[in-house]
Amino acid sequence: MNRQEVGLKAEEMLNELADQTRMGDEIWRYIYSDTEKKGKKIIRQWMEALGLLVIEDQIGNLIARKEGKSKETIVIGSHMDTVKDGGKYDGAGGIVIGLLALKELIESDETFDKSIEIIAFTEEEGSRFLSGYLGSKNLVGKITQLELNDTDSDGISLKEAMISNGYDPEKLPKEKRRDVAAYLEVHIEQGPVLETLRHDIGIVESIVGIRAFDITIKGRQDHAGTTPMDIRLDPVYAASKFISETTDYVRRLSKTATFTIGAMSVLPGVSNVIADSTNFSIDLRDRSEEDLVNVTDRIYESLGSLEEQGYAVTIKLLCAEEPVDLDSRLSDFMYDKSQNLGLRTMKMVSGAGHDAQIIAPHIKTGLIFVPSVKGRSHSSDEYTKSYDLGNGVLLLATILKEMLQGEFDV
Ligand SMILES: [Zn+2]
Repeated sequence: MNRQEVGLKAEEMLNELADQTRMGDEIWRYIYSDTEKKGKKIIRQWMEALGLLVIEDQIGNLIARKEGKSKETIVIGSHMDTVKDGGKYDGAGGIVIGLLALKELIESDETFDKSIEIIAFTEEEGSRFLSGYLGSKNLVGKITQLELNDTDSDGISLKEAMISNGYDPEKLPKEKRRDVAAYLEVHIEQGPVLETLRHDIGIVESIVGIRAFDITIKGRQDHAGTTPMDIRLDPVYAASKFISETTDYVRRLSKTATFTIGAMSVLPGVSNVIADSTNFSIDLRDRSEEDLVNVTDRIYESLGSLEEQGYAVTIKLLCAEEPVDLDSRLSDFMYDKSQNLGLRTMKMVSGAGHDAQIIAPHIKTGLIFVPSVKGRSHSSDEYTKSYDLGNGVLLLATILKEMLQGEFDV
């Protein structure tokens, strides 16, 4: 296999997908959007060109299957959706690398004792429905009422969106797929570690846990000029105090935890009016479940104390993913294969959530990172060199071959 050629091919495919699925100037493919539909069409064509049987599942994941002698299946997955104004590589990179690795196996007349599937998952990022990971949750039968009732910014629930797009919420599986023996995902790192330490490949050992909240603090709307400071119920003041105190607390508590307010709005949003309410997001992550619980308790306590002061507080927990350890035997195996190929390889922790973390508690899972230039991601500046994409294809093809030949017993 010519690694350089394959890397360039991957780049070409990612450019095509990005260029065909822009909303205005931005890349944005959220679940059931026109751009996602366009993207699916392109990915389906790539899948069919390999002679694979392509179907869509109950939520809208695209599944391409290479039937083997046994029904036992190795799944290679990654997500096809993006954040708003996202990059070309996040998610889509893993799909393209998976397809090119499988192409390599098919062209080298590999014997398929096991079946292989490439799955393009929908709505991992949660850029329409904040709960996210919908495609991978469906693979393991974990879409619950919580996800179905989640609403987008227009107030449309996932359940309603599914029905209006021709999907039946009643048909969602309640259990994981039993035939999947292993799940492999290749993803861009989305951070600067591999590049900084000059490594080609990261083998992920664990993924941080995430809590996401939607918070509304309602105060009392009053005149900005006539209402004395000591009798105001100003939700913007309450929110900013809560945010700065909780940020300081998280910094003191843990070197690894992150606490981010990425979205915030003030209503009615008029300069000479004390706000009626403020709404903001919380994104909390750490590799320690204990610290996630500590910060979560602190959030409820602090916001609870605002109620005593007369504010009305609504706390919506949108997602609670525990930190996940990936399969250590599989990680060791992948690490060795990568080293044997002469790739500079390190083991690492992922600070971003991935479909792998949803699947790992249920199915033997491995996650491989390729470098991101300057660590940039969730941005149009996102870039991974074709050289690194090529390494991803080479490593994945090597791992799959050895799995098919029984070198690694799944
Ligand atoms: Zn991603």
